[in-house]
Amino acid sequence: QTVLVTGASGFIAQQLIIDLLEQGHKVRGTIRSLSKADTLKKTLAEHSNHIDNLELVEADLESDKGWPEAMQGIDVVQHLASPFPMASPKNPDDLIRPAREGSLRVLRAAKAAGVNRVILTSSFASVGYGWGDALPEMTTEKDWTNTDNAKDCTTYVASKTLAEKAAWDYVNGEGKGIQLTTILPVAVFGPIRSAQVKTSVSVVSQMLAGKLPMLPNVGFQVVDVRDVCAAHIAAMNNPETIGERYILADEFTDMQGFAHILKEGFPDLASRIATRRMPNWLVRFGALFNGELKTMTLELNKRRQGSSQKVRALLGRELISSKEAILASGETLIKYKAV
Ligand code: NDP
Repeated sequence: QTVLVTGASGFIAQQLIIDLLEQGHKVRGTIRSLSKADTLKKTLAEHSNHIDNLELVEADLESDKGWPEAMQGIDVVQHLASPFPMASPKNPDDLIRPAREGSLRVLRAAKAAGVNRVILTSSFASVGYGWGDALPEMTTEKDWTNTDNAKDCTTYVASKTLAEKAAWDYVNGEGKGIQLTTILPVAVFGPIRSAQVKTSVSVVSQMLAGKLPMLPNVGFQVVDVRDVCAAHIAAMNNPETIGERYILADEFTDMQGFAHILKEGFPDLASRIATRRMPNWLVRFGALFNGELKTMTLELNKRRQGSSQKVRALLGRELISSKEAILASGETLIKYKAV
């Protein structure tokens, strides 16, 4: 099949492109600027012998330009592109608009070109937030984040939830005929494929670089990028996934758990890795000046968890463990000198 992967420069997209090429597919990837194309192709060529089956084209989520051409001859769209900043922007719309309108733009372009199979990378963000004190011990694909509860919802969380909702509304209305599956990963770790990758793995790079002298009392579930990609491909290959959402989540790990795994895995760097807890009042105070800490205040003493039962049944196996995922991030960050 010929697969369109949007946001080809991203952490998850790089792994997905490698896996698709290895499985014999032709891939067209979209990037915001073709000036990045050569570097990206070189990077991916280090991991695939089928790089000639990859073509890169230019398209931005904020413009119609390029999308009709990108869809020509495509069998399946894997829509991964979405802004993923470390801190919330001043104007929420700067994040929400490209995520929501961008997803609709991709779906409309698919519909216009007669491409009827779309896999959308949503997030656990569209399930596990906005619950306040009513947060269940375990959320499932039936649950949705309540974006009206701004006290328990960042702008990124809202952007992902609203983008996924808009996608389902579209395929259930104007876009009838498009067969949609959504993939909802928790925090993604595992190997990176180039030094440019940042997003979620930056927790590991900051710890290994000794940049986190104290650790806030927060944690999250972890999933390995290789499993996230396996789920995207399984969705594409299995018609029973049409109309379904899949949460991808392994164990809940707090920041101290991360630190212990990394200390054990990388004894040479152990002295840099702090395990001391940052008091909650200090996190709240720091949040006045630091956007990343502000995001963390939402997570203090929270244990947001999603069930991966459904995706384990789809893949027919257990997921890669959190520990293995975290160590693989560490190993590859060191390999690419991104620490
Ligand atoms: P990255 O930031 O590495 O990738 C995001 C991609 O989206 C980049 O290729 C980026 O392009 C592209 N992008 C951002 N804004 C635009 C735009 N306006 N137009 C076109 N492309 C754009 O993040 P990940 O690989 O981690 O994330 C991929 C997807 O997975 C996203 O949808 C994210 O929300 C989702 N996800 C990620 C999780 C994680 O922990 N990493 C967890 C759950 C979901 P450029 O390189 O030009 O900036």
